[in-house]
Amino acid sequence: MFKFLTTRHTNKYKTIVNEINTLAKHLKQLSDLELRRQTTILKKEFHRGYSLNKLMVKAFAIVKEATYRLLGFTMFDVQLIGGIVLHEGKIAEMKTGEGKTLVALLPAYLNALSGKGVHIITVNDYLTKRDATWVGKVHEFLGLSVGLIQPNMTYAERKQNYSCDVIYVTNSQLGFDYLKDNMAVSDEETVQRQFYFCIIDEVDSILIDEARTPLIISGLSKSPTDKYIVATKLSSLMKVNIDYEVDEKIKNIILTDRGNIFCEHYLQVDDLYSLNDPWFQYILSSLQAKELFVKNVHYIVQNKIVLIVDEFTGRVMPGRRWSNGLHQAIEAKENIPIQQENKTLASITYQSFFLLYTKLSGMTGTAKTEEAEFDKIYNLEVVVVPTNKPCLRKDFTDLVYKSESSKWKAVASECLDMYCIGRPTLVGTNSIEKSEILAKILNKHSVPYNLLNAKPKNIKKEAEIIAQAGKKSSITIATNMAGRGTDIILGGNLDKFTISTMVYYVSKQLNLLLEDLTILERSPLLLNKETHLLLDKFNVYYNSITKVQISSSFDLENLILSAVKKKSTTTITDNLLQHIYKCIYDQYQENFESEKTTIIKLGGLHVIGTERHESRRIDNQLRGRSGRQGDPGSSRFFLSLEDNLLRVFGGNTLIKVMEALNVEDNAPIESNLINNSLDLAQKKVESYFYDIRKQLIEYDEVLSNQRQAMYAERNKILSSINCRDSIIEYVEITIFELVDKYLLYNHNKNNKLSLLKTIFNILNIVYDYDLCSIINNLSSEKVCSFFYQQIGISYDLQEIYMNKIEEGLIREMEKYYLLQQIDNGWQKHLERMACLRDLINLRGYAQQDPLTEYKRSAFSLFVLMVSYVRQTVTFLIFNTK
Ligand code: ADP
Repeated sequence: MFKFLTTRHTNKYKTIVNEINTLAKHLKQLSDLELRRQTTILKKEFHRGYSLNKLMVKAFAIVKEATYRLLGFTMFDVQLIGGIVLHEGKIAEMKTGEGKTLVALLPAYLNALSGKGVHIITVNDYLTKRDATWVGKVHEFLGLSVGLIQPNMTYAERKQNYSCDVIYVTNSQLGFDYLKDNMAVSDEETVQRQFYFCIIDEVDSILIDEARTPLIISGLSKSPTDKYIVATKLSSLMKVNIDYEVDEKIKNIILTDRGNIFCEHYLQVDDLYSLNDPWFQYILSSLQAKELFVKNVHYIVQNKIVLIVDEFTGRVMPGRRWSNGLHQAIEAKENIPIQQENKTLASITYQSFFLLYTKLSGMTGTAKTEEAEFDKIYNLEVVVVPTNKPCLRKDFTDLVYKSESSKWKAVASECLDMYCIGRPTLVGTNSIEKSEILAKILNKHSVPYNLLNAKPKNIKKEAEIIAQAGKKSSITIATNMAGRGTDIILGGNLDKFTISTMVYYVSKQLNLLLEDLTILERSPLLLNKETHLLLDKFNVYYNSITKVQISSSFDLENLILSAVKKKSTTTITDNLLQHIYKCIYDQYQENFESEKTTIIKLGGLHVIGTERHESRRIDNQLRGRSGRQGDPGSSRFFLSLEDNLLRVFGGNTLIKVMEALNVEDNAPIESNLINNSLDLAQKKVESYFYDIRKQLIEYDEVLSNQRQAMYAERNKILSSINCRDSIIEYVEITIFELVDKYLLYNHNKNNKLSLLKTIFNILNIVYDYDLCSIINNLSSEKVCSFFYQQIGISYDLQEIYMNKIEEGLIREMEKYYLLQQIDNGWQKHLERMACLRDLINLRGYAQQDPLTEYKRSAFSLFVLMVSYVRQTVTFLIFNTK
């Protein structure tokens, strides 16, 4: 089992795993209470100075035993290795179906002993809830508190959940809470604690795929929307390669001279780039919307709202909007209401966010291909953990067709073949549009299938469909990685099937009107008599005893899950539910098992890829759905020369080869030359996107340092009761800066006087000509110390005055002005920084490195902003009446 690891790793992990297993055996003798008491003992040891590394073997053994008692699973050795890798702050590459959800329990428990809170991060709310309820009870049993962050939670609920020992949360909830915490105006509104240790599930999806779109909190700004309509009309009149050129590789549009003149003429303006009446950005966005953003591929329109579709996962990203006016341009193109342009109030990229943690770790089925990036950007090492059983999957060579249509025909025919022999098949597609093309062909041949794509109506049933995608003859068409996080079991997942069946029948029995019911709705089952009797009994007891409100199938599912997974039960309803579960399970067990044996004989799950993705990692993810836990399986990619990847990055050589070969449309070509060109194209795209992400992080690092400085200052203010000292510091620096400037004007009397006037004005000192003349003749130090004395006097006066209005008012005012001005300053700064980025991109530096130029200008902008904030706070404090 350990042969995949290097010798260094092997010996190290082997010894630890053996120690854990030996100890876990001893722990079997402990009672539940005694096992639980181990947590208190470990916590004490930690506080006595034992390092977490020292406590690891014991902690992991405790979790292993508790997992067995609570969930009935004996953790595999490879799961223990995964846990060690995570604790070491690395990425554990573990294939699908290896049980990563359980793995996370180990390091989470160990690190939570420190009392600092561990975040377990997953990609969607469904998975956080599922994991917290399913495996969270192991931690609870051991005496740790388990938190779960869900959308629509109040501040108080969030705060309470974040204060737990182990917190299940999605990356976006976490990021947005961070930004909101740093916009809070009182301590009560902040919800998070420190960022200590996190375990990111599907780490590649979060740290790489999502890293190109920053998290943004925005407010409305008052910018004109009608310009988008005009620009859309204009762009529809413009001709590609005449008025503008499209660079698909970098998703960019370049106006030609002719295009420029055409626009100026159409709009009757002299300059498209004028600062007073700018048009350029509007035209550019409209042309991008026209040429590069395709409905049902890059976005969908739902209830007159444009929703972005994540290129990698095929999921819609509600609430996310493209920036720089692109979203508005698409709204104009789709002829739906244009939403006001948003002003960024706060933003952060995932890269910068996750670097806030003291220790970072992650797990995924596919990380090795991106090893260099993880290392360079996040300082994360990737360790490939061997599978529990050897992988038997056969990956067939790609078949390449001349045209897309012949490719789809071939895919459909392969589906039909598999369907006829009974092998379950999973087809991955790159977009909703493509998944529907295949669905149509299959309809024509009357081949049944399940379609999983980003359309919201399908998402609810995603996990369930995937769980049953291993049933005989089932065909599942999924946009890439839909249903990620749920593994496909050959013959179907009997446990999930039983639970779904129970949800369906119990809800019918209790007369619950649940709209998001299971897929069973379509084909109800025949249950035996005993089950029906038990269901009737349950109905009677449930209605007479419990008054728990059930408003969704999820609530019902949780109720059932928690009842049936309990080792010992105390209530009659729990008992009945366990019986019902057992009845259905037993009734279908043979059926599922024989189906599994049949499918294994037939060759297991067959995965069909329909396009090479922009990254090999995503292709591997798709392949990895098959061949879990030593099952047989196979995969095959069907490609065409018209696929995006080849069209954009493949070059003309391939087409020439095809022409020279004179192949027929319907015949696939298996040639090394084509495969090599494909690999090359894919590598080109990978490195292109890597460069983009690298550039993003290099640029974002500048902003990230500034953000941290700003947030630290803000937090200091937010948590202090008296901000007088902070303000005095602001005032002194302001005076110092102004006096410095004043000295610069030594030669010009008028300028000097007007600056003095400004200082008087800011400090709210009555302007006195004689006093000014005296000051004018003093040395710079003396001028400063004169004003420094004045600060104390003015402040005392203001304090007395304010306290007369209301005791304590000055303290509130100080905090209010400080936060308000810091937020205003920061938001304006974000806008300027965005402009600076655009400008640097547009200008193109012949000699200078744009990044150096960006850093230099960003620094000056930051200094200016900070000094402006200090000045306005000073002014406001002394001038409020
Ligand atoms: P992954 O995230 O690695 O794809 P999951 O955590 O979803 O895997 O687990 C896959 C399945 O494997 C789960 O249904 C779980 O019941 C099962 N499983 C996990 N660990 C074990 C174990 N030690 N023994 C038996 N089954 C396990």
